Amino acid sequence: MDKDVEKGWFRMFCSEEEVDRILQPKNAYDYLLSKRAEIIADHARYTRVFRRKAMLSDNWSLEKSFKKNHYKDYLISLPVVDSERCQSIAYGDMFTNEVNGFAESNKTWGRIIYLNESLPFFMKFCNLAIFDFGNQVPHYVKKNTLRIAARIILKSEAMDFSLDPRGILPAHIMNKIINPIKFEMQFIAGHEFAHHLCNHFDNTNVSKQSFLTIGENDYSAHIYTPSQKNEFEADIDSIMRPRYNGKEYSKIYEAAIIWFLSLDIADAIQEVTNPIPAYKKSHPNAVDRIKNIVENTKKPKNLNAKMLSRIQSNTEKMKEFLMEDLSLYMDDYEKYGSIYFDKPNTEWRGAELVDRVDY
Ligand SMILES: [Zn+2]
Repeated sequence: MDKDVEKGWFRMFCSEEEVDRILQPKNAYDYLLSKRAEIIADHARYTRVFRRKAMLSDNWSLEKSFKKNHYKDYLISLPVVDSERCQSIAYGDMFTNEVNGFAESNKTWGRIIYLNESLPFFMKFCNLAIFDFGNQVPHYVKKNTLRIAARIILKSEAMDFSLDPRGILPAHIMNKIINPIKFEMQFIAGHEFAHHLCNHFDNTNVSKQSFLTIGENDYSAHIYTPSQKNEFEADIDSIMRPRYNGKEYSKIYEAAIIWFLSLDIADAIQEVTNPIPAYKKSHPNAVDRIKNIVENTKKPKNLNAKMLSRIQSNTEKMKEFLMEDLSLYMDDYEKYGSIYFDKPNTEWRGAELVDRVDY
């Protein structure tokens, strides 16, 4: 493509300085930014969302629109010697099929750690479906939010939640589902860094693999696949190695368990829609990973075991509903668009937004 045409294309959702960095990457973060920009430019769904976000922001930066706190909060909690060992690693969220984190071994830019950029949204809707709110949240709203979560995994839900939040939640419920997400993300970031710190990454477990497939397009990189034993070890290390205080420790511990319950749902969705042969699975089964944490880490002093066991039993019930729903309405799940908590002009939905007028 002509350089000026290419520039004009990236300018729709990047700052001027970012366009230069994308066209001539000088470090791992420029490379990471160019990967994201390439994927956004390739797909109208993403182009449209990012273009609108850029238009609505005064001081837009594509790079800054991807949060990095989950990596940074983990890294600053590490003992100095360990955080120094992580300094050579670049990190950031990425568009990917992996409902997890993964690490690339890049010949030019070195080791790069990624997390799926849609995870916080998946977590939010999933938490609303599996947390215990007594009768404060109607069952049909929970079912609809789980449908949204499933569609995020299937990449059929429009990722424009900041423009169109899909419904209205009372503040106390919103806080309850949002609060653990920071720690869930931090735990997953820690898991990837743990592979590095435990020397699980080496040349023998790198291979060229696809990390994203959308329609005809396939994006691949040289990705590490640690052994299942190493996966369990990295989960423990992500919780135990950082110098968390008592409160942070219990938040991370609880978040890890909540995450694996959500991951169990995500795994079930992928098994139904796109079965992956067992030998190709990069991570062990989510329920075994919970067992591993419970058996091999120190239980937090103020652990809210009752809350976790309620979430666990809700997860089982909601998963059962979802599996049946998927088998009945698979076509609807795969149709690209937006679905909502409820019908327009209701308590849980609010007034209907008109696409391209209201947002
Ligand atoms: Zn891993």
